[in-house]
Amino acid sequence: MTDISESLSAAPQVGLTQGGDRRGAATTDQPVIVVGGGLTGLSAAWELQQLGLPYVLLEAGDYLGGKVQTEWHSLPGAGDFLVEKAADAFILGKPWALELAREVGLESELIHPREDTKRLYFLKGGRLLPFPEHLRMFVPLDEQAFRRSGVLSPEGTERMLGEVNVPPRENADEDESLASFVTRRFGEEAMNFIVPMAAGIYVANPHELSMQMAFPQFLAMEQKYGSLIAAHRALPPRTGPIFGSFRGGMGELAGAVGRALTEEVRLNSAVRQVHRDGVTLASGEHIAGRGVIMTTPAWFTAPLLAGDFPEAAALVGQLKTNSSVAVILAYRREQFAFDMDMHGLQVDWSEGIAMTAITVHSGKMHGRAPEDHVLLRVFFKNTEPGEARRLAEGYVRELFGAEGEPLFHAFADWRGKNPAYVVGHRHHLAAIRAALPGTVQVAGASFTGVGLPDCVNAGRTAARQVMTSLAE
Ligand SMILES: Cc1cc2nc3c(=O)[nH]c(=O)nc-3n(C[C@H](O)[C@H](O)[C@H](O)COP(=O)(O)OP(=O)(O)OC[C@H]3O[C@@H](n4cnc5c(N)ncnc54)[C@H](O)[C@@H]3O)c2cc1C
Repeated sequence: MTDISESLSAAPQVGLTQGGDRRGAATTDQPVIVVGGGLTGLSAAWELQQLGLPYVLLEAGDYLGGKVQTEWHSLPGAGDFLVEKAADAFILGKPWALELAREVGLESELIHPREDTKRLYFLKGGRLLPFPEHLRMFVPLDEQAFRRSGVLSPEGTERMLGEVNVPPRENADEDESLASFVTRRFGEEAMNFIVPMAAGIYVANPHELSMQMAFPQFLAMEQKYGSLIAAHRALPPRTGPIFGSFRGGMGELAGAVGRALTEEVRLNSAVRQVHRDGVTLASGEHIAGRGVIMTTPAWFTAPLLAGDFPEAAALVGQLKTNSSVAVILAYRREQFAFDMDMHGLQVDWSEGIAMTAITVHSGKMHGRAPEDHVLLRVFFKNTEPGEARRLAEGYVRELFGAEGEPLFHAFADWRGKNPAYVVGHRHHLAAIRAALPGTVQVAGASFTGVGLPDCVNAGRTAARQVMTSLAE
């Protein structure tokens, strides 16, 4: 886990009062308080530092990074496995995470998914099909390759390719669900192929997931080019990698930002209430502040706002969540009949099984498992972890011919912890913001986007927003 002890010991104490002693009017030497030390909170603190505003970052847990959890598992005689409990990479098309990595001196540690092992499978009807070639996200650019793949029936395939002739929606300002968008543009059967990729990122119910929140770029393409296929054909060819990570895993980013923060970062400091003039900790201590940036997930944020901002708290409390569980399994390569030099598989939406995807970390990225070993992460919907493990080992046996027991297993239990972003989320977020003063901001995965680049951008934007509000 991240070691931030050096930066903690060097940090000056700012703006703290003890035992519930509340300060009066905000003064310019009071800090802005950042609640939560995930990637959003770290980015907010980093931006405050760039703006020259004093800050305090308060984290309830004993490490920085929040959901970004990189752990090393050492096996005597084998070596070290790098286990990611949540994010294992970030998209480079949204520049904010990479920019932050550069600013904290981490660019030399940047790595990319391997090209030489870039094989993906699609599980349909119990069979592993090679993924169609020449897709951009899920949009087929090569009709013949898509027809050959067999991921949809012949009728479903022609309906999907016919998207190019479907006129754009007229009421473009209205939000809609992913399911509505996909069915409207690509046909009902296309849900089986598109949803695992699109909703998988958001761990979402496609009938609820807001297009405006999750895929605004597709709505814009539809309006500008008339169809997604036409839009993707018009885009310049892709050059360079699409995703990045770090040699030591995603936890390196949280660690590097934590070490670069020069003001106070307090671990084991859970906030209990948020006020206009600061926060009260679970210990009863009051910390006075000129502004507060809340980066905690919605289910923690609502009760923190309930005392002084009941309307905002009620709105935050209405935000929904989804569940996922990942089972991490390690094997020796010789346990497999299958060539495990691949990136993984996606499961057809209509397959009717609890498993949604497998990532082969050892195949996807260098340095995730010792030579001649295989490290997998098997994803499930809302499944009890013990049952998920039993199922995961069964699927790995059945699909890849694995023999014998895994060398170790681990769980990433995110039940009830994935933001749902239901249709209308943007309006809901606007209402939350309207119910809070400009110096109290909400940002982060529950509110403004789940991907790490979005979290970085949201944290930094919230910091700038507080500065603007202070100047008004
Ligand atoms: C399985 C999985 C896979 C993912 N894969 C990817 C991926 O490949 N790429 C990608 O870009 N994204 C991915 N994500 C999403 C991404 O990891 C998260 O959206 C992001 O890490 C959330 O960051 P955050 O700072 O907004 O929230 P969090 O990381 O949840 O941080 C919130 C922090 O607030 C703290 N806190 C809570 N209550 C209090 C309190 N009362 N007082 C003080 N602190 C408190 C928590 O301890 C936590 O540290 C994945 C997520 C999951 C679950």
